[in-house]
Amino acid sequence: TSTSQATMASHNMVRTRAASSPSPALEQHKALADQAYRSITLGLDCDDKGDRPGALEHYRRGVKELKNAIELPLPTRQDREKAESLNAKMRGNLEQIENRVKELVQAPAMASTSAPPRNAQNVKPRVPSANVKKAVPKSEAPKTSSNKLKVSNLKNVDTAMANRILNEIVIDKPSVTWEDIVGLEGAKTALREIVILPTLRPELFTGLRAPARGVLLFGPPGTGKTMLAKAVAHESQATFFSISASSLTSKFVGEGEKMVRSLFAMARQLQPAVIFIDEIDSIMTERSESEHEASRRLKTEFLLQFDGLGSSSDDRLLVLAATNRPQELDEAALRRLVKRIYIPLPEAATRAALIGALIQGHKHELSKTDLNRLVASTEGYSGSDITALAREASLGPIRELGDRLMSTSADAIRPINLRDFAAALNIIRPSVSHGSLKQYDTWNRSYGTYGA
Ligand code: ATP
Ligand code: MG
Repeated sequence: TSTSQATMASHNMVRTRAASSPSPALEQHKALADQAYRSITLGLDCDDKGDRPGALEHYRRGVKELKNAIELPLPTRQDREKAESLNAKMRGNLEQIENRVKELVQAPAMASTSAPPRNAQNVKPRVPSANVKKAVPKSEAPKTSSNKLKVSNLKNVDTAMANRILNEIVIDKPSVTWEDIVGLEGAKTALREIVILPTLRPELFTGLRAPARGVLLFGPPGTGKTMLAKAVAHESQATFFSISASSLTSKFVGEGEKMVRSLFAMARQLQPAVIFIDEIDSIMTERSESEHEASRRLKTEFLLQFDGLGSSSDDRLLVLAATNRPQELDEAALRRLVKRIYIPLPEAATRAALIGALIQGHKHELSKTDLNRLVASTEGYSGSDITALAREASLGPIRELGDRLMSTSADAIRPINLRDFAAALNIIRPSVSHGSLKQYDTWNRSYGTYGA
C-alpha cells in the first residue's frame, strides 16, 4: 500500500542520512581537535598579552591534545581518509606550537617581542553562521562559539562592526572542494599557485616569488567563478572573508565604507587571509558624472585599502574578486587586480565530464554515443545551464508516472535516457548569447593574464 511505501521511503531517508553523517569515531576525532584548538586559542591570547606562563600552560596542554587527536585510532579506512586533512593541519600546527613553546622557554626576553604563530590553522573565528546562509551550506553550520575570536582584541576595529563582519562575512570552510569543480584545470592551477601554495609554504614565496595581491576571476555567468572561490576557501589555510559587492552598496550611506575599512583591518590581523569580493563590478564601475556621492566614496575607500595591502612586505593578504561584467571595471580596479583569470564556458570534454558527474548515481541508459551527441548539442551551455538541463531531464521518468507516482516503488522507475535530455534541451536554453561571448573573448585578449 502507499502507506507502507511511505514508511519505506522515510526509512530510506533515515538510512541515507545516517550514512552521510560522521561516524562516532570521527565525531570524537573532531571533538578532540576542537578541544586542542580551544587551548591553543587561549595560549595565543595569553601570548598576545605577554603572559608567558599562561601561554606556556595553554600551549602545552594544546600540544598534548593535538597529539591525542592525531593519534586517535580510527576503525575504518573511510574514517581515516576523512580525518586526514584535519590531521595534516594539526600536524602543521603542532610543529608551530612546539616551536613557539621552545622559543618561549629558551629566550623569554626575545620571545616576548616576537609574534606568536598567528597562522595557526583553525585558530580563527568560528562564527555561529546564522547570517552566512549564502556562503555556508547547512551541514557546516553552526560551529561552537567557544573558540570564537575575541573581537575586543582587534586593534583599530570598532567592536560592534567587527562582530557584524564576523557574522556577515567571515566564512568557515565552505564544503566545495577542487574535485567538485569539473574542468577549469588552468584556473585551478593558477589559483593553487597564487593562493594555496603561498599559505602552505610562506617561506618559499618571498621576494620575486611574492604572490599576487589581487586576482580577478571573470567570465560568463554560471561558469563556476563563485564555486572556485569557495574551493579556494576550503583548500587554503587562510581566513576567508566573503562579501558580495552588492551587499556593500545596499548599506546605509557611510556604512559600506566603514565596513570596508574594518574588513581590511581585520583581515590584516587574521593573516593569512583572503578577501573574496563577488560581483565586484557593482562597486568598481567606471566613474561617471551621475555617480552617487556615496558609491564614489565606497569605491575610493576600497582602492585606498587595497593599496594599503602592499605596505608591509610580509602581509599575507589576497583580494580575490569575481565578475561576469569585466568590461565595466574601471582602470583603477584593473590595475590592482593584476592576475585576471578567464573562466570560459565549458569545452566539450568538460561538458562530457560534467554530464557524467551529474547523472552518476542515477539510473540511466545513456550510451557513449548518446553522451557524445549530448555534448555536441550543449555547445554554448554554461556549467549551470548543464546542471539545470540534467535536473530537467532527470524528472522525465518521474513526470511520466502521472497518477502512479505514489504507487510506484523507487526501483521500478525507468532509467533516464537520451529522449529525456532531448526534451530538456527544448526547455533549457543556453543563457549566454553569442554576442556577449565574443565580448568576453575580446576582453580576455586585451586584459586576461593567461591568454585565450
Ligand atoms: P555568476 O557569474 O552568475 O555569479 P558563477 O560563475 O559564479 O556565475 P557559480 O555560482 O560558481 O557560477 O556556478 C553556478 C552553478 O553551476 C554551480 O552551483 C554548479 O552547480 C554549476 N557549475 C558551474 N560550473 C561548474 C563546474 N565547472 N563544475 C561543476 N559545476 C559547475
Ligand atoms: Mg557568482
